[in-house]
Order: sequence, then C-alpha cells, then structure tokens
Amino acid sequence: MRQPGRGKEQPVNGASTAMEALRWHMVEKQLKARGIADPRVLEAMSRIPREEFVPERFRREAYADEPISIGHGQTISQPYITALMAQTLELKGHEKVLEVGAGSGYHAAVLGALAAEVITLEIIPELAELARRNLAGAGYDRNVRVVCGDGSLGYPETAPYDAISVAAGAPATPDQLLAQLAGDGRMVVPVGSYDEQKLMVFVKAGDALTSRVATYCRFVPLRGGGGWNAR
Ligand code: SAH
Repeated sequence: MRQPGRGKEQPVNGASTAMEALRWHMVEKQLKARGIADPRVLEAMSRIPREEFVPERFRREAYADEPISIGHGQTISQPYITALMAQTLELKGHEKVLEVGAGSGYHAAVLGALAAEVITLEIIPELAELARRNLAGAGYDRNVRVVCGDGSLGYPETAPYDAISVAAGAPATPDQLLAQLAGDGRMVVPVGSYDEQKLMVFVKAGDALTSRVATYCRFVPLRGGGGWNAR
C-alpha cells in the first residue's frame, strides 16, 4: 500500500501525520459543525485517506472545503456533499449500493465502508481505471466493484439495490433508476438544470414513494441515455 510522505510529516493535534490532522479538522469543521451526525459516516470519513484519491498535485488540498479536479472535466465532490449524500441513505451495513459516477473512487470507498457491497459505474474509461487504481491503492476494493459504462439508466444486471447514489446532475427524475430500487430503498440524486440542481432524496416504502430536497448543489452533468446526452 502506498504511504505518501509518511515519515516526513509532523504530528499535529495528537494525529500521527499532518494528513490525519487535516482529515480530523475536515470532519470537525466541515461535517460535524454543519450537521452531519451519523456516527458511521463520521467514522468512515475520519478513516479513509482522501489524499490517496486526489491527483498528486492537489494532495495538499485533499481536505479543502471545495471540489477538486480529477481530469477529463470531472471533479471529486466537496467532502460535505459526500457526507450529506451518504447520510441521507441511512446505511446500516447490510446493503447493496449502486453508485453512478465513480470518478476518483473516493465516494465509493465511503459507501463501501458503510454498506456490504458497492457497484459503481463510470462512463469515462480512464476514470473507471483511476477509480479502480485508487480503491486498490488505498485498500478499499474488497467490497467495491467499478464497472465502466453508462449508469444513467442504472445497472439491471445486479438490481435491485437497497440504495442508489448518483454523483452527477440529472435533467429529470431518473425513473429507470427508481425502478431498480428495492421495496424499502433510498436514492439520492441531483436533479435540475445544467448549472444548478436540487439534491433529491427518494424513499420507497412498499408502493409509496416520498421525496425531499436535501440541499441545492452544483454537480457535473449526468451523461448517457438517461442524462443530458438524451436531450
Ligand atoms: N463520486 C466521485 C465524483 C464523481 S464526478 C468521486 O468521489 O470522485 C461525476 C462522475 O460521473 C464523473 O466521473 C463522470 O464521468 C461520471 N458520469 C457522468 N455521467 C455518467 C453516466 N451516465 N454513467 C456513469 N458515470 C457517469
């Protein structure tokens, strides 16, 4: 396993490396202070080395309160958004989760720490490869599988899912994804225009479907058959 710069880093706030200190600070100031309260989400994000999922040149910014470019016009979301999305899914540990938009693989690693199994789809082949490499490098590939392909219409091969997390902005409620949710499943998805979306949380309870807006946000566009390409 890669251990970037360990050795050279100074202990801060009782953490054993500077990166661990920055991670602790991120959890306190960006997550807890803004209302992220699910102890499992906080624990996972206290543990997962986000610096191993950002490009080498942005390693110092790994815990900054903003999205970071991962190439190909795509970004890894701000830590707070990753935490909020994970929290809305109310994962307990037994779930099978579908993620649409693997990107760097960081969010999939968080979901993998919270659920039993994660299948994450990525439409850009180079990023699918990056996600695989990052997940394996950081040691979070045990229960996370990266599939290269269009996930805007879901992934029927392993449906139904207890939870679905969509990391790119959809032009409309993705009904095909909702159809792949289990009877008591939950889905979090940004829905709206190209530039601004509502982060929607859908909850299935038998035949009933409820939704709420978790926040306003700005994600990269969802591509593919159920995304902006189909318009
Ligand atoms: N969850 C990621 C952030 C992803 S950014 C992380 O933690 O790093 C959104 C990603 O969705 C981009 O990598 C983009 O290529 C991908 N994407 C966009 N449309 C997609 C689609 N239809 N199917 C699969 N991936 C898609």
